[in-house]
Amino acid sequence: MLINVQGLLNLILNRTLLNMSGIKKLCQSNKKIITIITSLTLLYTISACTGIQTANVDYFADNGTGNSLAIVQNPAGIYHKGITYVSYQGPFEDPYIASYNHKTGEWLGPFRAGTSELGRREGRTKFDNHGKPTLLIDDEGYIHVYYGGHGGDKHHGTNTLGNIHHGANKNSISKRPLDITEWDEVDNISVFGTYNQAIKMDNGDIYLFYRHGAHRSDWVYQKSTDNGRTYDAPVSFLKHKRRTDLDAVDSWYAWAVKGEGNNIIVGFDYHLCWDGRAEPSGRGHTTERHDAHFMSFNTQTGEWTNVQGDLLNMPLNREEAEQKTLAASTGDMWTFNGSVKLDSEGHPHIATNYGVDLGKKTGGPKLTHHLRWNGSDWSQPTTVNGKISGESRGDFTVSSSSNIEFILSDNDGTDATITRWVSDNGGKSFSKKDELLRRPSSTFAVSSLIENSHPDARLIVAERSRLTPHRKIYLVGDNGPLGRLLQDATLEKDSSVFVSKIK
Ligand code: ZN
Repeated sequence: MLINVQGLLNLILNRTLLNMSGIKKLCQSNKKIITIITSLTLLYTISACTGIQTANVDYFADNGTGNSLAIVQNPAGIYHKGITYVSYQGPFEDPYIASYNHKTGEWLGPFRAGTSELGRREGRTKFDNHGKPTLLIDDEGYIHVYYGGHGGDKHHGTNTLGNIHHGANKNSISKRPLDITEWDEVDNISVFGTYNQAIKMDNGDIYLFYRHGAHRSDWVYQKSTDNGRTYDAPVSFLKHKRRTDLDAVDSWYAWAVKGEGNNIIVGFDYHLCWDGRAEPSGRGHTTERHDAHFMSFNTQTGEWTNVQGDLLNMPLNREEAEQKTLAASTGDMWTFNGSVKLDSEGHPHIATNYGVDLGKKTGGPKLTHHLRWNGSDWSQPTTVNGKISGESRGDFTVSSSSNIEFILSDNDGTDATITRWVSDNGGKSFSKKDELLRRPSSTFAVSSLIENSHPDARLIVAERSRLTPHRKIYLVGDNGPLGRLLQDATLEKDSSVFVSKIK
């Protein structure tokens, strides 16, 4: 009889051995099964009956929670002096940080780096998922993590730059340089923030970009010149504004990253934030978003410009954006913005996801597209995986104006895949290079590409299943995932108890 040993073992590991006590119980009750598996597999060895588990798994943590990762919280991982530091949303929407030493192959952590208000809120009916962390390492080596905000809560008072929802945007700093084991929670940024993007300039100045509140809020940055100990007051750069022609409010989603020299570049899309009852199809408030925009911020002069170098009035409003910053009009298609990068000529490339509105509150599935500025025009967006519909997310690098490499979260039937796609013709077409990870009956959530990434650790991936809120978290590089011992990847899970929505 043929036995798929690895499949059987995976099944047992995944379904049964959820924690250490589970392993011990299984051993006590079924020593024969363990003995058979041990003798048949080369990949795993289990000596659990003696109290020691040495099975290898290809994830590094199993306590990711809800939607643990997204591209907008940028960066969620940083490679620095031989070590990759990674973060994700764990139990009670708290930030968890782990590190991988590329020389020794050793993992450290994960450690809980702070306490999220989101996970302790009274009346929770579901995960909020805005606990996802963003990392930064300052010039003295202290690690900063920003997390836990979804616009601020009622008890925080009035948001002068927009509206509120839940949580508190917070900052934790490692107690010691490059040491993730202990953290101080510091009160130095606005609690109203969400979608943090942390940028360190060459002179050490830190810029924290985020949306200052819930949907109907400005996007802002806060600047620090003392290694992130204190920050100047928030400065608006994208303006929310009630429309006079529709019962809706202008809103935005942005993604900011260091450009060349003193510049920060920003890609963004437009959210038409309907008053619930006014939405034309009767869906109520939706995630209707359109188009792709680009602009650039000179941190020395304080000037914002479009791709042609024309000055922009700040904070930018919709009317001026439509005139000056539009890179792609997506028409009736709904968007979900992605990342933006500069090529070796200093020209921006944009990743954005869009697809047909199928009538859901979120429209429909959205495919990752690439477009670029060639010095005089924006190119027509191209789908990276060549499909005409479906769902994908991903981030990319550009080594020259013509060489582009995407890592995509995609699906193949009911399998979730992480695949690498390359273009050598400036994004006119992409070809699949290799597959880095595949899991059956699941979907993947991905981080943006790790800052300054090592080839063995390009991005962080969460494996999502409808059956459980607990997520296996992978660190994936050009050679696939970097695993560890089962016992070290087996962690205490979320135990949230939600209030029923039905009263
Ligand atoms: Zn809205």
